[in-house]
Amino acid sequence: MKKQLVRQTRDHFQQIYHQAPEAVFLSPGRINIIGEHIDYNDGFVLPAAINKYVCFALSKTNNSTISFHAKDLNESYTLSTEDNLVPVETMWVNYLLGVLDELKRSNKIVSGFEMTFSSTVPMGSGLSSSAAVECGFAFALNSLFDLNLSRQDIALIGQQAEHRFAGVKCGIMDQFASVFGKKNKVIKLDCTTLDYTYYDAHLGDYSLLLLDSCVKHTHLTSGYNDRRNEVEVGLKMIQSHYPEVSTFRDCSLDMIENLKSELGEIIYKRCHFVVKEIARVDVAAQALNNHHYSLLGQTMTETHWGLSNEYEVSCPEIDFLVETILKKEGVLGARMMGGGFGGCSINLVPKEKEKEIIAQMKTAYFEQFGITLNYYPIKISKGTTKYEKA
Ligand code: ADP
Ligand code: MG
Repeated sequence: MKKQLVRQTRDHFQQIYHQAPEAVFLSPGRINIIGEHIDYNDGFVLPAAINKYVCFALSKTNNSTISFHAKDLNESYTLSTEDNLVPVETMWVNYLLGVLDELKRSNKIVSGFEMTFSSTVPMGSGLSSSAAVECGFAFALNSLFDLNLSRQDIALIGQQAEHRFAGVKCGIMDQFASVFGKKNKVIKLDCTTLDYTYYDAHLGDYSLLLLDSCVKHTHLTSGYNDRRNEVEVGLKMIQSHYPEVSTFRDCSLDMIENLKSELGEIIYKRCHFVVKEIARVDVAAQALNNHHYSLLGQTMTETHWGLSNEYEVSCPEIDFLVETILKKEGVLGARMMGGGFGGCSINLVPKEKEKEIIAQMKTAYFEQFGITLNYYPIKISKGTTKYEKA
């Protein structure tokens, strides 16, 4: 798959620019094992890069023209290194312009180049194709023009590009996972300080399967903003009684229980979820290290029901996928992944039963909702890299 993507991207470069590319780069999509909706609540997240990639082929030129080609969309775009950089109508171009703009702001100078890119990360399914595009592009330019950027710089450039040019005020998890991923390791990341530790994620006889509900409910944005407000109000109320609390990390379940009536039903539920989820990330990370997969799965499932019943960011389609897969023999855990109200579920399933489970889930989902289920069996893989011929 990876080799095929590289070959196709290279061939495409040759076809449109009539020469072989100087260098080729791969930048992965990502999953998050656990730690949902707590990046903005001072919790840790547990993401990993996966074996789905955006592939970039590039060459420097000796003029000031920059050419992009998006092979999957069959669209191209050109500009000059002298151009003033502002967001444009064509969305995919913005992720690239955003990176160029960030480089410019930090006086990292690039000259003209030609580039094409192509990908196996599904677009808009919550596997962070956008972060893979931004970070892969920044990584490629860093290498091609010797810009002396660290991996952390590259992740931050990607995030800024998304903020300024795509208008998405995302956290740092997606970019960090894409850039810092390692084969069979998950990253326990503190989104506030960017401290991180790797945990073993050899999954033994199990594998991770993503099921794409192929729905996106419109309350994603409003629901997200509402939750952010609710937990902010909740934290202030907790702090007014417990001045020693500076973030949710300092909160205990007892504190939340003591304030249950004052918080009110909704805010109580939101805060309860956050405190429990922060603890679950630790449990899951340790479970991975100890190869205790049933505990890992159980913790993922607890997260799902917390997200569904307490944080209320799931939806009937995803709840159905989780409930149904958990009834299959040997499945250890399942949960919604990402912001919610649609997108993918992530499932810990026995490797030998994966194909059979996929077939059963496709049938069940179609019967229930009349929607064809997409699915992505995945492996945990290394982060953004230059592709060197074997
Ligand atoms: P996600 O990051 O979850 O996949 P986003 O909506 O954040 O979803 O990013 C998807 C956008 O990223 C696409 O609409 C497109 O603009 C850009 N993109 C991702 N992959 C590609 C690709 N292979 N070719 C062109 N643009 C892409
Ligand atoms: Mg994205």
